[in-house]
Amino acid sequence: MAQVSRIPLIAGNWKMNLDHLQAIATVQKLDWTLKDARHDYGAAGSEVAVFPPFTDLRSVQNLIAADKLDIVFGGQDLSEHEAGAYTGEISGAFLKGLDCTYVLIGHSERRTLHGETDQQLARKFSSAVKHGLVPVLCVGETADDLEVHGPSAVPVAQLRATLAGVTGTPNFVIAYEPVWAIGSGQAATPDQAEQVAATLRATVAELLGEETADATRILYGGSVKSSNIAGFMRQPNVDGALVGGASLDVTEFASIARFQKHVGT
Ligand code: PEP
Repeated sequence: MAQVSRIPLIAGNWKMNLDHLQAIATVQKLDWTLKDARHDYGAAGSEVAVFPPFTDLRSVQNLIAADKLDIVFGGQDLSEHEAGAYTGEISGAFLKGLDCTYVLIGHSERRTLHGETDQQLARKFSSAVKHGLVPVLCVGETADDLEVHGPSAVPVAQLRATLAGVTGTPNFVIAYEPVWAIGSGQAATPDQAEQVAATLRATVAELLGEETADATRILYGGSVKSSNIAGFMRQPNVDGALVGGASLDVTEFASIARFQKHVGT
């Protein structure tokens, strides 16, 4: 596969934490903390994204636009529907209207707690693309899956199911998040992450062609901290991280985002 330069992405999934006032303070502090790193490393650094709760998005949008902050943001989920009698749901059009760049699709908590199926996630993926959002498709195996099928089988099956009806050259991101590593403090090893990321990239190449596979960013997620990010960023097929718990601590998240891939240490 051709060596291309993909801009690394460090994404913070806030889950159901931080209200809109806390969101404003957090994004302001994050921007401030990142400024030095940007000064040191320039434009070659990582793109930094946050995924706040829906009720924070308007505040985050206003702050980022008013102060021209170099931080992007997205929704934690979207509806597969356009509009109508779907109480509690948020459409891709609404997210796009708030200037979201990204949307998470199929986070393991959505799959487990809300019973989201691969078929439903395929529809959400299409809806995101249709509305000009970049889907961040989360895939990953449970501890049982790992024992029975090995590390790649379930994430690859989830990816195949979501991309089944996809054609053309969609702009999307994959987050490989082993379920056993999320919030457990027990991250995968960089070698494990690289092995699965390489298999996921080969699957994208098979389904959508080499060019799309080369352009698609693959993140690792699951207990990422400033103390272990270096190992992941050294892997050729790992293009950044999806960070949960550690993204709520601005200093810690900024330290993760600061770890530039091109620094290579
Ligand atoms: C996540 O929820 O996407 C995640 C990776 O969580 P944590 O970093 O807390 O393991």
